[in-house]
Amino acid sequence: MKTYLGLPTAPRGVGALSGSQTFPAAARVALDNPQLRKNLGHATRTIRGKRAEVVGEVPDWEELRLAGAAIKRATMASLDVHLERLEREVTARGGTVHWATDSVAANRIVTSLVRATGAREVVKVKSMATQEIGLNEALEEAGISAVETDLAELIVQLGHDRPSHILVPAIHRNRSEIKEIFQREMGDAPADLTDEPRRLAMAARAHLRRRFLAARVAVSGANFAVAETGTLAVVESEGNGRMCLTLPRTLITVMGIEKIVPTWDDLSVFLQLLPRSSTGERMNPYTSMWSGVTPGDGPQEFHLVLLDNGRTATLADEVGREALHCIRCSACLNVCPVYERTGGHAYGSVYPGPIGAVLSPQLTGVADNPTLPYASSLCGACFDACPVRIDIPNLLVHLRSRVVEEKKLPTAEAVAMAAAGWVMKSPGLFGAAGRAARGGRLLGRRGRIRALPPPLSAWTASRDAPVPPKETFRQWWRRTSSGGDTDA
Ligand code: SF4
Repeated sequence: MKTYLGLPTAPRGVGALSGSQTFPAAARVALDNPQLRKNLGHATRTIRGKRAEVVGEVPDWEELRLAGAAIKRATMASLDVHLERLEREVTARGGTVHWATDSVAANRIVTSLVRATGAREVVKVKSMATQEIGLNEALEEAGISAVETDLAELIVQLGHDRPSHILVPAIHRNRSEIKEIFQREMGDAPADLTDEPRRLAMAARAHLRRRFLAARVAVSGANFAVAETGTLAVVESEGNGRMCLTLPRTLITVMGIEKIVPTWDDLSVFLQLLPRSSTGERMNPYTSMWSGVTPGDGPQEFHLVLLDNGRTATLADEVGREALHCIRCSACLNVCPVYERTGGHAYGSVYPGPIGAVLSPQLTGVADNPTLPYASSLCGACFDACPVRIDIPNLLVHLRSRVVEEKKLPTAEAVAMAAAGWVMKSPGLFGAAGRAARGGRLLGRRGRIRALPPPLSAWTASRDAPVPPKETFRQWWRRTSSGGDTDA
């Protein structure tokens, strides 16, 4: 096991990579909310079904996944070279590239760029990177308001809420909750608004249209950047991104350094994998691409902020670096039995679900997110769904070992296993333990024990224990075989 000293992780307390509670504590709160579980169950079932249908239509889906994984692996191996190429190409086409070591630097760069324009408001394209660094809060502190223009992000923003899904940030809300939020918070919501999806979308559309037309600055993320031509790409479903990327005079894009692809051929693989895996569509409705600035067409000033914020530290881990291959499709969230029950807020990070459980602890350092690698049953559904074949279960196990090593403390499970080993070495102790365990039958209901007394409570804090059988193996052996050498 290696430890990587000296490579900076994301700064503590800035942005949204860790929550105030541990995962088990936050999950318990979420599990007590039946409406949340109902909303999540319905939404994830629907997306899963759509995805399975469109993925099933592609005869070479496995080959595409293999290609995606190979491109990501090769790109990460020479990330520095590709990033420098990207910088050269963006600059040659009239853009300006800024390098941000972490969230503090990125927020400072964006804030000063917006200030320089004199604008007091920016329109935003849905972007995980800007949420990760807490850009809206940083802008607000500088007296600049950020308007989210993605419908789901707008619902989250107006509801003073936090996103709970990478792709569908308001997945935890149902239609009537959204109607209430619009009526309460959106000053220009129609008086006769109903919870019909079309009416809700039209209300948001009218509200946002005024902001688009008035905006002088837009802030976006990027799904991909093609190094060979310095081209940025945003894929989306609503067209709000296209408005932000074309109408304002100044465009600022914040992009994690791992989003780069070397060539257009590489991009073509991901443009096939992403829509089917994320929204369950054959192709997303809007794909916007731009390279630098074009006089008289679109933004006349373009800034690209390349964000590290713990990514280089992640890259240094030979196993963990696979998390950087993620294309943020959300397929792993939608198939995860843990995510489906707890929702995204329990993860504390803007990256929830299986990918969040392996990415967030690496960006922050595992000491700041020690419970996330345990937020999984290791069932493997996330690996099967991942379009770039990230072996998330393997990463989870790897990060659990890092948590143990860095905390230098044995886990409750390790203590229990050591005690079991001690007991099993002695036939007398083992027999006595078997007899004592039968007493546990009194604690069981419907074959499960939900809470054991300390120190065994460490085991049942996050899982049930089976009720011990009526007879031990030795008793069974003595009863069913003739004259066995046993001890009850
Ligand atoms: S880990 Fe894979 S399945 Fe999960 S969001 Fe990333 S690319 Fe999609």
